[in-house]
Amino acid sequence: MGSQCNGDDFEVPEIKIKFTKLFINGQFVDAVSGKTFETRDPRTGEVIAHIAEGDKADVDLAVEAARQAFDHGKWPRMSGYERGRIMMKFADLIEQNIEELAILDTLDAGKLFTLGKIVDIPGTVQLLRYYAGAADKIHGETLKMSREFQGYTLKEPIGVVGHIIPWNFPSTILFFKVCPALAAGCTMVVKPAEQSPLSALYYAHLAKEAGIPDGVLNVVTGFGPTAGGAISSHMDVDKVSFTGSPEVGRLVMEAAAKSNLKSVSLELGGKSPLIIFNDADVDMAVDLANTAIFFNKGEVCVAGSRIHVQEGIYDEFVKKAAESAKKLVVGDPFDPRVNQGPQVDEGQFERVLKYIEHGKREGATLLTGGRPCGDKGYYIEPTIFTDVKEDMLIAQDEIFGPVMSLMKFKTIEEAIERANNTRYGLAAGIVTNDLNIANRVSRSIRAGSIWINCYFGFDIDCPFGGFKMSGFGKDMGLDAIDKYLQVKSVVTPIYGSPW
Ligand code: NAD
Repeated sequence: MGSQCNGDDFEVPEIKIKFTKLFINGQFVDAVSGKTFETRDPRTGEVIAHIAEGDKADVDLAVEAARQAFDHGKWPRMSGYERGRIMMKFADLIEQNIEELAILDTLDAGKLFTLGKIVDIPGTVQLLRYYAGAADKIHGETLKMSREFQGYTLKEPIGVVGHIIPWNFPSTILFFKVCPALAAGCTMVVKPAEQSPLSALYYAHLAKEAGIPDGVLNVVTGFGPTAGGAISSHMDVDKVSFTGSPEVGRLVMEAAAKSNLKSVSLELGGKSPLIIFNDADVDMAVDLANTAIFFNKGEVCVAGSRIHVQEGIYDEFVKKAAESAKKLVVGDPFDPRVNQGPQVDEGQFERVLKYIEHGKREGATLLTGGRPCGDKGYYIEPTIFTDVKEDMLIAQDEIFGPVMSLMKFKTIEEAIERANNTRYGLAAGIVTNDLNIANRVSRSIRAGSIWINCYFGFDIDCPFGGFKMSGFGKDMGLDAIDKYLQVKSVVTPIYGSPW
Protein backbone atom coordinates (compact mmCIF):
# COMPACT_ATOMS: atom_id res chain seq x y z
CA MET A 1 0.00 0.00 0.00
CA GLY A 2 1.32 3.48 -0.89
CA SER A 3 0.17 5.02 2.36
CA GLN A 4 -1.23 4.16 5.75
CA CYS A 5 -4.59 4.77 7.27
CA ASN A 6 -4.05 5.67 10.89
CA GLY A 7 -5.66 4.19 13.97
CA ASP A 8 -8.06 5.95 16.31
CA ASP A 9 -5.88 6.89 19.30
CA PHE A 10 -6.51 10.62 19.04
CA GLU A 11 -9.27 12.92 20.12
CA VAL A 12 -11.99 14.18 17.76
CA PRO A 13 -13.23 17.47 19.21
CA GLU A 14 -16.92 17.54 20.08
CA ILE A 15 -19.05 20.26 18.56
CA LYS A 16 -22.70 21.20 18.41
CA ILE A 17 -23.72 22.61 15.03
CA LYS A 18 -25.32 25.94 15.92
CA PHE A 19 -26.24 27.52 12.60
CA THR A 20 -28.13 25.68 9.87
CA LYS A 21 -30.55 28.31 8.51
CA LEU A 22 -30.21 31.00 5.87
CA PHE A 23 -28.93 34.35 7.10
CA ILE A 24 -31.03 37.14 5.56
CA ASN A 25 -31.28 40.72 6.77
CA GLY A 26 -29.55 39.90 10.04
CA GLN A 27 -31.79 36.92 10.95
CA PHE A 28 -31.42 33.17 10.67
CA VAL A 29 -34.49 31.99 8.75
CA ASP A 30 -35.85 28.82 7.14
CA ALA A 31 -35.96 28.58 3.36
CA VAL A 32 -39.24 29.84 1.87
CA SER A 33 -39.88 26.32 0.56
CA GLY A 34 -39.11 24.85 4.00
CA LYS A 35 -36.69 22.45 2.31
CA THR A 36 -33.34 21.34 3.74
CA PHE A 37 -30.37 19.38 2.40
CA GLU A 38 -27.83 17.15 4.10
CA THR A 39 -24.22 18.09 4.59
CA ARG A 40 -22.04 15.00 5.06
CA ASP A 41 -18.80 14.17 6.83
CA PRO A 42 -16.30 12.91 4.23
CA ARG A 43 -14.53 10.83 6.90
CA THR A 44 -17.54 8.53 7.07
CA GLY A 45 -20.19 9.67 4.60
CA GLU A 46 -22.54 10.25 7.54
CA VAL A 47 -24.91 13.24 7.78
CA ILE A 48 -23.57 16.11 9.94
CA ALA A 49 -26.57 18.43 9.72
CA HIS A 50 -29.63 19.42 7.72
CA ILE A 51 -29.13 22.85 6.18
CA ALA A 52 -31.82 25.21 4.85
CA GLU A 53 -32.03 24.82 1.07
CA GLY A 54 -32.32 28.30 -0.37
CA ASP A 55 -33.41 28.83 -3.96
CA LYS A 56 -34.69 31.69 -6.12
CA ALA A 57 -37.30 32.90 -3.61
CA ASP A 58 -34.67 33.14 -0.86
CA VAL A 59 -32.12 34.78 -3.14
CA ASP A 60 -34.79 37.37 -4.01
CA LEU A 61 -35.27 38.13 -0.30
CA ALA A 62 -31.52 38.29 0.34
CA VAL A 63 -30.93 40.58 -2.65
CA GLU A 64 -33.81 42.81 -1.52
CA ALA A 65 -32.21 43.10 1.92
CA ALA A 66 -28.81 43.83 0.40
CA ARG A 67 -30.37 46.40 -1.96
CA GLN A 68 -32.07 48.22 0.92
CA ALA A 69 -28.85 48.17 2.93
CA PHE A 70 -26.98 49.57 -0.05
CA ASP A 71 -29.48 52.18 -1.22
CA HIS A 72 -30.61 53.42 2.19
CA GLY A 73 -28.37 51.88 4.86
CA LYS A 74 -25.36 53.11 6.81
CA TRP A 75 -22.67 50.79 5.49
CA PRO A 76 -21.84 52.44 2.15
CA ARG A 77 -22.31 55.88 3.71
CA MET A 78 -20.18 55.55 6.83
CA SER A 79 -16.54 56.58 6.67
CA GLY A 80 -14.02 54.00 5.54
CA TYR A 81 -12.45 54.34 8.96
CA GLU A 82 -15.69 53.27 10.68
CA ARG A 83 -16.14 50.34 8.29
CA GLY A 84 -12.57 49.35 9.01
CA ARG A 85 -13.16 49.43 12.78
CA ILE A 86 -16.15 47.11 12.46
CA MET A 87 -14.17 44.77 10.21
CA MET A 88 -11.40 44.72 12.86
CA LYS A 89 -14.00 43.72 15.46
CA PHE A 90 -15.22 40.96 13.11
CA ALA A 91 -11.61 39.74 12.85
CA ASP A 92 -11.23 39.73 16.66
CA LEU A 93 -14.38 37.63 17.04
CA ILE A 94 -13.15 35.09 14.49
CA GLU A 95 -9.85 34.95 16.34
CA GLN A 96 -11.72 34.04 19.53
CA ASN A 97 -13.47 31.16 17.73
CA ILE A 98 -10.68 29.70 15.60
CA GLU A 99 -10.96 26.20 17.00
CA GLU A 100 -14.71 25.89 16.41
CA LEU A 101 -14.47 27.28 12.87
CA ALA A 102 -11.59 24.93 12.03
CA ILE A 103 -13.68 21.99 13.29
CA LEU A 104 -16.53 22.99 10.96
CA ASP A 105 -14.30 23.07 7.87
CA THR A 106 -12.73 19.72 8.81
CA LEU A 107 -16.13 18.11 9.31
CA ASP A 108 -17.56 19.54 6.11
CA ALA A 109 -14.62 19.37 3.73
CA GLY A 110 -12.15 16.89 5.27
CA LYS A 111 -9.47 19.57 5.67
CA LEU A 112 -6.62 18.97 8.11
CA PHE A 113 -7.71 20.32 11.49
CA THR A 114 -4.20 21.41 12.51
CA LEU A 115 -3.81 23.42 9.31
CA GLY A 116 -7.28 24.92 9.70
CA LYS A 117 -6.25 26.22 13.11
CA ILE A 118 -2.96 27.72 12.00
CA VAL A 119 -3.55 28.62 8.35
CA ASP A 120 -7.13 28.76 7.03
CA ILE A 121 -8.97 30.44 9.88
CA PRO A 122 -6.15 32.78 11.02
CA GLY A 123 -5.86 33.66 7.31
CA THR A 124 -9.42 35.02 7.35
CA VAL A 125 -8.50 37.19 10.35
CA GLN A 126 -5.48 38.51 8.48
CA LEU A 127 -7.54 39.20 5.35
CA LEU A 128 -10.12 41.14 7.35
CA ARG A 129 -7.45 43.24 9.08
CA TYR A 130 -5.59 43.91 5.81
CA TYR A 131 -8.69 45.19 4.02
CA ALA A 132 -9.99 46.95 7.14
CA GLY A 133 -6.79 49.00 7.05
CA ALA A 134 -7.42 49.83 3.40
CA ALA A 135 -11.07 50.88 3.83
CA ASP A 136 -10.18 54.51 4.59
CA LYS A 137 -7.58 54.77 1.83
CA ILE A 138 -9.89 54.45 -1.16
CA HIS A 139 -9.73 57.60 -3.23
CA GLY A 140 -9.88 58.86 -6.77
CA GLU A 141 -7.64 61.22 -8.66
CA THR A 142 -7.57 64.89 -9.54
CA LEU A 143 -7.50 65.48 -13.27
CA LYS A 144 -6.02 68.53 -14.93
CA MET A 145 -7.95 68.24 -18.11
CA SER A 146 -7.34 69.82 -21.49
CA ARG A 147 -9.29 72.94 -22.34
CA GLU A 148 -11.11 74.84 -19.65
CA PHE A 149 -12.15 71.98 -17.47
CA GLN A 150 -10.96 70.32 -14.38
CA GLY A 151 -12.14 67.06 -12.98
CA TYR A 152 -11.78 64.44 -10.35
CA THR A 153 -12.71 60.81 -10.04
CA LEU A 154 -14.71 59.20 -7.26
CA LYS A 155 -14.40 55.52 -6.45
CA GLU A 156 -17.83 54.34 -5.41
CA PRO A 157 -18.92 50.89 -4.20
CA ILE A 158 -20.33 48.88 -7.09
CA GLY A 159 -23.52 47.97 -5.17
CA VAL A 160 -24.96 44.56 -4.35
CA VAL A 161 -22.45 41.77 -4.90
CA GLY A 162 -23.07 38.01 -5.23
CA HIS A 163 -20.20 35.80 -4.06
CA ILE A 164 -20.31 32.17 -5.17
CA ILE A 165 -17.83 30.01 -3.27
CA PRO A 166 -16.35 26.51 -3.81
CA TRP A 167 -15.79 23.86 -1.13
CA ASN A 168 -12.04 23.32 -1.21
CA PHE A 169 -11.21 26.39 0.92
CA PRO A 170 -14.59 27.29 2.42
CA SER A 171 -13.14 29.96 4.72
CA THR A 172 -10.19 31.37 2.78
CA ILE A 173 -12.01 31.90 -0.53
CA LEU A 174 -15.05 33.35 1.23
CA PHE A 175 -12.83 36.00 2.81
CA PHE A 176 -10.84 36.63 -0.42
CA LYS A 177 -14.15 38.03 -1.65
CA VAL A 178 -16.05 39.34 1.34
CA CYS A 179 -13.18 41.46 2.75
CA PRO A 180 -12.47 43.79 -0.20
CA ALA A 181 -16.22 44.06 -0.90
CA LEU A 182 -16.89 45.11 2.71
CA ALA A 183 -14.00 47.58 2.63
CA ALA A 184 -15.38 49.09 -0.59
CA GLY A 185 -18.77 49.65 1.06
CA CYS A 186 -20.72 47.03 -0.89
CA THR A 187 -23.54 44.86 0.43
CA MET A 188 -23.67 41.21 -0.51
CA VAL A 189 -25.24 37.79 -0.84
CA VAL A 190 -22.91 34.85 -0.29
CA LYS A 191 -23.62 31.34 -1.58
CA PRO A 192 -21.26 28.79 -0.06
CA ALA A 193 -20.79 25.42 -1.76
CA GLU A 194 -23.43 22.85 -0.85
CA GLN A 195 -20.65 20.52 0.38
CA SER A 196 -19.32 23.04 2.92
CA PRO A 197 -21.98 25.48 4.19
CA LEU A 198 -21.29 25.33 7.94
CA SER A 199 -18.53 27.87 8.49
CA ALA A 200 -20.14 30.56 6.28
CA LEU A 201 -23.22 30.56 8.54
CA TYR A 202 -21.04 30.81 11.63
CA TYR A 203 -19.18 33.78 10.07
CA ALA A 204 -22.54 35.47 9.39
CA HIS A 205 -23.40 35.21 13.08
CA LEU A 206 -20.03 36.77 14.04
CA ALA A 207 -20.46 39.54 11.45
CA LYS A 208 -23.70 40.57 13.13
CA GLU A 209 -22.10 40.45 16.57
CA ALA A 210 -19.27 42.66 15.29
CA GLY A 211 -21.78 45.33 14.24
CA ILE A 212 -22.04 44.80 10.49
CA PRO A 213 -25.52 46.21 9.83
CA ASP A 214 -28.41 43.92 8.89
CA GLY A 215 -28.68 43.28 5.16
CA VAL A 216 -24.99 43.96 4.43
CA LEU A 217 -23.86 40.34 4.59
CA ASN A 218 -26.47 37.70 3.71
CA VAL A 219 -25.80 33.98 3.33
CA VAL A 220 -28.02 31.74 1.20
CA THR A 221 -27.06 28.09 1.43
CA GLY A 222 -28.29 25.80 -1.33
CA PHE A 223 -27.40 24.23 -4.65
CA GLY A 224 -25.59 25.73 -7.64
CA PRO A 225 -28.17 25.72 -10.44
CA THR A 226 -30.92 27.02 -8.12
CA ALA A 227 -29.42 29.38 -5.49
CA GLY A 228 -26.21 30.11 -7.45
CA GLY A 229 -28.10 30.50 -10.72
CA ALA A 230 -30.57 32.91 -9.10
CA ILE A 231 -27.69 35.14 -7.99
CA SER A 232 -25.91 35.25 -11.35
CA SER A 233 -29.13 35.95 -13.26
CA HIS A 234 -30.59 38.44 -10.76
CA MET A 235 -31.49 41.84 -12.22
CA ASP A 236 -30.64 43.63 -8.99
CA VAL A 237 -27.19 42.13 -8.35
CA ASP A 238 -24.53 44.53 -9.66
CA LYS A 239 -21.59 42.17 -9.64
CA VAL A 240 -20.92 38.48 -9.25
CA SER A 241 -17.62 37.20 -7.99
CA PHE A 242 -17.25 33.49 -8.64
CA THR A 243 -14.67 30.85 -7.75
CA GLY A 244 -15.20 27.36 -9.06
CA SER A 245 -14.97 25.24 -12.18
CA PRO A 246 -14.63 26.67 -15.71
CA GLU A 247 -17.87 24.93 -16.74
CA VAL A 248 -19.88 26.75 -14.09
CA GLY A 249 -17.90 29.97 -14.63
CA ARG A 250 -19.17 29.96 -18.21
CA LEU A 251 -22.77 29.54 -16.97
CA VAL A 252 -22.32 32.44 -14.54
CA MET A 253 -21.04 34.67 -17.32
CA GLU A 254 -23.88 33.65 -19.63
CA ALA A 255 -26.44 34.38 -16.92
CA ALA A 256 -24.86 37.78 -16.28
CA ALA A 257 -24.96 38.59 -19.99
CA LYS A 258 -28.57 37.47 -20.36
CA SER A 259 -29.80 39.42 -17.33
CA ASN A 260 -28.51 42.88 -16.41
CA LEU A 261 -24.95 42.65 -17.83
CA LYS A 262 -23.60 42.66 -14.32
CA SER A 263 -19.86 42.82 -13.81
CA VAL A 264 -18.27 39.37 -13.45
CA SER A 265 -14.97 38.11 -12.08
CA LEU A 266 -14.03 34.45 -12.37
CA GLU A 267 -11.40 32.44 -10.51
CA LEU A 268 -11.45 29.07 -12.21
CA GLY A 269 -9.54 25.83 -12.44
CA GLY A 270 -5.98 24.96 -13.33
CA LYS A 271 -3.59 22.28 -14.53
CA SER A 272 -0.46 23.93 -13.28
CA PRO A 273 3.01 22.77 -14.33
CA LEU A 274 6.02 22.47 -12.03
CA ILE A 275 9.20 22.45 -14.12
CA ILE A 276 12.31 20.96 -12.56
CA PHE A 277 15.65 21.55 -14.27
CA ASN A 278 18.80 19.40 -14.16
CA ASP A 279 20.64 21.72 -11.77
CA ALA A 280 17.92 21.47 -9.09
CA ASP A 281 18.54 19.92 -5.70
CA VAL A 282 16.55 16.72 -6.23
CA ASP A 283 15.47 16.29 -2.60
CA MET A 284 14.17 19.84 -2.48
CA ALA A 285 12.41 19.40 -5.84
CA VAL A 286 10.74 16.19 -4.64
CA ASP A 287 9.48 17.95 -1.51
CA LEU A 288 8.10 20.80 -3.60
CA ALA A 289 6.46 18.48 -6.12
CA ASN A 290 4.80 16.32 -3.50
CA THR A 291 3.54 19.36 -1.61
CA ALA A 292 2.34 20.93 -4.87
CA ILE A 293 0.04 18.02 -5.65
CA PHE A 294 -0.76 16.27 -2.36
CA PHE A 295 -1.47 19.32 -0.18
CA ASN A 296 -5.18 19.48 0.71
CA LYS A 297 -5.57 16.05 -1.02
CA GLY A 298 -5.00 17.69 -4.39
CA GLU A 299 -8.20 19.73 -4.03
CA VAL A 300 -6.37 22.95 -4.83
CA CYS A 301 -7.00 25.06 -7.92
CA VAL A 302 -3.25 25.77 -8.23
CA ALA A 303 -2.17 22.18 -7.52
CA GLY A 304 1.05 21.33 -9.37
CA SER A 305 -0.52 18.43 -11.19
CA ARG A 306 1.88 18.28 -14.16
CA ILE A 307 5.46 17.70 -13.03
CA HIS A 308 7.98 18.18 -15.85
CA VAL A 309 11.46 16.90 -14.96
CA GLN A 310 14.58 17.36 -17.10
CA GLU A 311 16.11 14.12 -18.33
CA GLY A 312 19.39 14.38 -16.38
CA ILE A 313 17.69 13.96 -12.99
CA TYR A 314 14.49 12.22 -14.10
CA ASP A 315 15.28 8.69 -12.87
CA GLU A 316 16.53 9.86 -9.48
CA PHE A 317 13.50 12.14 -9.13
CA VAL A 318 11.03 9.36 -9.95
CA LYS A 319 12.55 7.03 -7.35
CA LYS A 320 12.60 9.66 -4.62
CA ALA A 321 9.13 11.04 -5.43
CA ALA A 322 7.64 7.56 -5.01
CA GLU A 323 9.49 6.98 -1.72
CA SER A 324 8.30 10.32 -0.42
CA ALA A 325 4.65 9.79 -1.49
CA LYS A 326 4.61 6.39 0.23
CA LYS A 327 5.55 8.04 3.51
CA LEU A 328 2.50 10.32 3.51
CA VAL A 329 -0.05 9.31 6.10
CA VAL A 330 -3.62 9.24 4.82
CA GLY A 331 -6.33 9.24 7.44
CA ASP A 332 -8.66 11.13 9.74
CA PRO A 333 -8.00 14.87 9.30
CA PHE A 334 -8.47 15.42 13.05
CA ASP A 335 -5.41 13.23 13.71
CA PRO A 336 -2.37 15.55 13.97
CA ARG A 337 -0.09 12.85 12.44
CA VAL A 338 -2.08 12.74 9.22
CA ASN A 339 -0.88 14.44 6.02
CA GLN A 340 -3.88 13.78 3.80
CA GLY A 341 -7.58 13.60 4.66
CA PRO A 342 -10.56 12.35 2.63
CA GLN A 343 -11.78 13.81 -0.68
CA VAL A 344 -14.68 16.18 -0.08
CA ASP A 345 -17.54 13.86 -1.05
CA GLU A 346 -18.49 10.66 -2.79
CA GLY A 347 -18.80 12.40 -6.16
CA GLN A 348 -15.22 13.72 -6.06
CA PHE A 349 -13.95 10.40 -4.70
CA GLU A 350 -15.50 8.50 -7.63
CA ARG A 351 -14.35 11.13 -10.11
CA VAL A 352 -10.69 10.92 -9.01
CA LEU A 353 -10.75 7.10 -9.09
CA LYS A 354 -12.20 7.21 -12.61
CA TYR A 355 -9.32 9.43 -13.75
CA ILE A 356 -6.85 6.98 -12.22
CA GLU A 357 -8.46 4.12 -14.15
CA HIS A 358 -8.43 6.25 -17.29
CA GLY A 359 -4.71 6.99 -16.80
CA LYS A 360 -3.98 3.25 -16.63
CA ARG A 361 -6.06 2.57 -19.74
CA GLU A 362 -4.34 5.41 -21.62
CA GLY A 363 -1.00 3.68 -21.06
CA ALA A 364 0.55 5.74 -18.27
CA THR A 365 2.53 3.74 -15.67
CA LEU A 366 1.10 3.72 -12.17
CA LEU A 367 4.21 4.23 -10.04
CA THR A 368 2.53 4.32 -6.65
CA GLY A 369 -0.91 4.63 -5.05
CA GLY A 370 -4.02 4.50 -7.19
CA ARG A 371 -6.42 2.87 -4.75
CA PRO A 372 -9.00 3.91 -2.20
CA CYS A 373 -7.74 3.80 1.34
CA GLY A 374 -9.52 2.52 4.47
CA ASP A 375 -12.93 0.87 4.79
CA LYS A 376 -15.08 3.98 5.14
CA GLY A 377 -15.01 7.57 3.97
CA TYR A 378 -13.50 8.99 0.80
CA TYR A 379 -9.75 8.40 1.17
CA ILE A 380 -7.46 7.88 -1.81
CA GLU A 381 -3.77 6.97 -1.79
CA PRO A 382 -1.29 9.59 -3.02
CA THR A 383 -0.89 8.54 -6.63
CA ILE A 384 1.93 9.06 -9.13
CA PHE A 385 1.85 8.25 -12.83
CA THR A 386 4.98 8.17 -15.01
CA ASP A 387 5.24 7.84 -18.80
CA VAL A 388 2.47 10.40 -19.11
CA LYS A 389 1.96 11.81 -22.59
CA GLU A 390 0.74 15.34 -23.04
CA ASP A 391 -2.41 14.42 -24.91
CA MET A 392 -3.59 12.00 -22.19
CA LEU A 393 -6.66 13.06 -20.28
CA ILE A 394 -4.75 12.87 -16.97
CA ALA A 395 -2.29 15.46 -18.35
CA GLN A 396 -4.99 17.81 -19.62
CA ASP A 397 -7.98 17.66 -17.25
CA GLU A 398 -8.09 19.12 -13.78
CA ILE A 399 -8.47 15.98 -11.65
CA PHE A 400 -8.72 17.87 -8.36
CA GLY A 401 -7.30 14.95 -6.40
CA PRO A 402 -3.96 13.49 -5.21
CA VAL A 403 -2.76 12.42 -8.66
CA MET A 404 0.64 13.49 -10.00
CA SER A 405 1.49 13.20 -13.71
CA LEU A 406 5.25 12.96 -14.27
CA MET A 407 6.77 13.87 -17.63
CA LYS A 408 10.35 14.04 -18.92
CA PHE A 409 11.77 16.89 -21.03
CA LYS A 410 15.10 17.65 -22.71
CA THR A 411 15.45 21.35 -23.48
CA ILE A 412 14.28 24.63 -21.99
CA GLU A 413 12.25 25.37 -25.14
CA GLU A 414 10.48 22.04 -24.82
CA ALA A 415 9.73 22.75 -21.14
CA ILE A 416 8.15 26.11 -21.99
CA GLU A 417 6.09 24.66 -24.81
CA ARG A 418 4.80 21.83 -22.64
CA ALA A 419 4.06 24.10 -19.69
CA ASN A 420 1.91 26.27 -21.92
CA ASN A 421 0.19 23.31 -23.56
CA THR A 422 -2.98 23.66 -21.51
CA ARG A 423 -6.19 25.62 -21.71
CA TYR A 424 -5.53 26.83 -18.17
CA GLY A 425 -3.17 29.51 -16.87
CA LEU A 426 -3.45 29.76 -13.13
CA ALA A 427 0.05 29.08 -11.77
CA ALA A 428 3.42 27.47 -12.53
CA GLY A 429 6.50 26.49 -10.54
CA ILE A 430 10.13 26.51 -11.66
CA VAL A 431 12.96 24.76 -9.82
CA THR A 432 16.46 25.81 -10.88
CA ASN A 433 19.49 27.67 -9.54
CA ASP A 434 20.07 29.36 -12.89
CA LEU A 435 18.70 32.88 -12.62
CA ASN A 436 18.46 33.34 -16.34
CA ILE A 437 16.49 30.14 -16.84
CA ALA A 438 14.17 31.15 -13.99
CA ASN A 439 13.55 34.60 -15.46
CA ARG A 440 13.24 33.45 -19.03
CA VAL A 441 10.76 30.71 -18.20
CA SER A 442 8.78 33.05 -15.91
CA ARG A 443 8.27 35.47 -18.76
CA SER A 444 7.40 32.72 -21.21
CA ILE A 445 4.65 31.00 -19.24
CA ARG A 446 1.12 32.29 -19.58
CA ALA A 447 -0.09 31.98 -15.99
CA GLY A 448 -1.13 34.37 -13.24
CA SER A 449 1.35 33.22 -10.55
CA ILE A 450 4.90 31.96 -11.07
CA TRP A 451 6.73 30.42 -8.14
CA ILE A 452 10.52 30.09 -8.43
CA ASN A 453 12.08 27.50 -6.09
CA CYS A 454 8.90 27.45 -4.04
CA TYR A 455 5.27 26.47 -4.49
CA PHE A 456 2.06 28.00 -3.06
CA GLY A 457 3.92 31.32 -2.63
CA PHE A 458 0.79 33.10 -1.42
CA ASP A 459 0.58 36.32 0.53
CA ILE A 460 -2.25 38.76 1.11
CA ASP A 461 -0.26 41.46 -0.64
CA CYS A 462 0.27 39.35 -3.76
CA PRO A 463 -2.51 39.41 -6.39
CA PHE A 464 -3.82 35.96 -7.31
CA GLY A 465 -5.86 34.96 -10.36
CA GLY A 466 -5.72 33.28 -13.72
CA PHE A 467 -4.85 33.77 -17.36
CA LYS A 468 -6.60 31.96 -20.24
CA MET A 469 -9.45 29.67 -19.13
CA SER A 470 -8.45 30.03 -15.49
CA GLY A 471 -10.52 33.20 -15.42
CA PHE A 472 -10.00 36.91 -14.87
CA GLY A 473 -9.96 39.34 -11.97
CA LYS A 474 -7.50 39.10 -9.09
CA ASP A 475 -8.15 38.16 -5.48
CA MET A 476 -5.85 39.45 -2.74
CA GLY A 477 -3.63 42.50 -2.92
CA LEU A 478 -4.91 46.05 -2.64
CA ASP A 479 -6.11 46.07 -6.25
CA ALA A 480 -8.77 43.46 -5.39
CA ILE A 481 -10.81 46.30 -3.88
CA ASP A 482 -11.14 47.81 -7.37
CA LYS A 483 -13.32 44.84 -8.41
CA TYR A 484 -15.93 46.12 -5.98
CA LEU A 485 -15.67 49.79 -6.93
CA GLN A 486 -16.71 51.83 -9.92
CA VAL A 487 -15.07 55.03 -11.04
CA LYS A 488 -17.14 58.16 -11.56
CA SER A 489 -15.69 61.22 -13.31
CA VAL A 490 -16.86 64.64 -12.14
CA VAL A 491 -16.01 67.60 -14.36
CA THR A 492 -16.40 71.36 -13.91
CA PRO A 493 -15.47 74.19 -16.27
CA ILE A 494 -12.95 76.82 -15.25
CA TYR A 495 -13.57 80.15 -16.94
CA GLY A 496 -10.53 82.22 -17.79
CA SER A 497 -8.04 79.55 -16.73
CA PRO A 498 -4.44 80.70 -17.35
CA TRP A 499 -3.26 77.11 -18.21
P1 NAD B 1 -18.23 24.26 -9.00
O1 NAD B 1 -18.01 25.16 -10.15
O2 NAD B 1 -18.98 23.02 -9.21
O3 NAD B 1 -19.00 25.02 -7.82
C1 NAD B 1 -18.54 26.26 -7.32
C2 NAD B 1 -19.73 27.01 -6.78
O4 NAD B 1 -20.62 27.31 -7.85
C3 NAD B 1 -20.55 26.23 -5.74
O5 NAD B 1 -21.00 27.12 -4.75
C4 NAD B 1 -21.72 25.73 -6.57
O6 NAD B 1 -22.88 25.49 -5.83
C5 NAD B 1 -21.93 26.89 -7.53
N1 NAD B 1 -22.64 26.54 -8.75
C6 NAD B 1 -22.76 25.32 -9.34
N2 NAD B 1 -23.53 25.42 -10.44
C7 NAD B 1 -23.90 26.72 -10.56
C8 NAD B 1 -24.68 27.44 -11.51
N3 NAD B 1 -25.26 26.85 -12.55
N4 NAD B 1 -24.83 28.78 -11.33
C9 NAD B 1 -24.23 29.41 -10.29
N5 NAD B 1 -23.51 28.77 -9.35
C10 NAD B 1 -23.33 27.44 -9.49
O7 NAD B 1 -16.78 24.01 -8.43
P2 NAD B 1 -16.39 23.14 -7.18
O8 NAD B 1 -16.51 21.71 -7.58
O9 NAD B 1 -17.10 23.61 -5.97
O10 NAD B 1 -14.87 23.56 -6.99
C11 NAD B 1 -13.88 22.99 -7.74
C12 NAD B 1 -13.47 23.92 -8.86
O11 NAD B 1 -13.18 25.22 -8.37
C13 NAD B 1 -12.19 23.46 -9.50
O12 NAD B 1 -12.29 23.60 -10.89
C14 NAD B 1 -11.14 24.40 -8.94
O13 NAD B 1 -10.00 24.55 -9.69
C15 NAD B 1 -11.92 25.66 -8.82
N6 NAD B 1 -11.29 26.55 -7.85
C16 NAD B 1 -10.65 27.67 -8.32
C17 NAD B 1 -10.02 28.52 -7.45
C18 NAD B 1 -9.34 29.77 -7.93
O14 NAD B 1 -9.11 30.66 -7.13
N7 NAD B 1 -9.01 29.88 -9.18
C19 NAD B 1 -10.02 28.24 -6.09
C20 NAD B 1 -10.67 27.09 -5.65
C21 NAD B 1 -11.31 26.25 -6.55
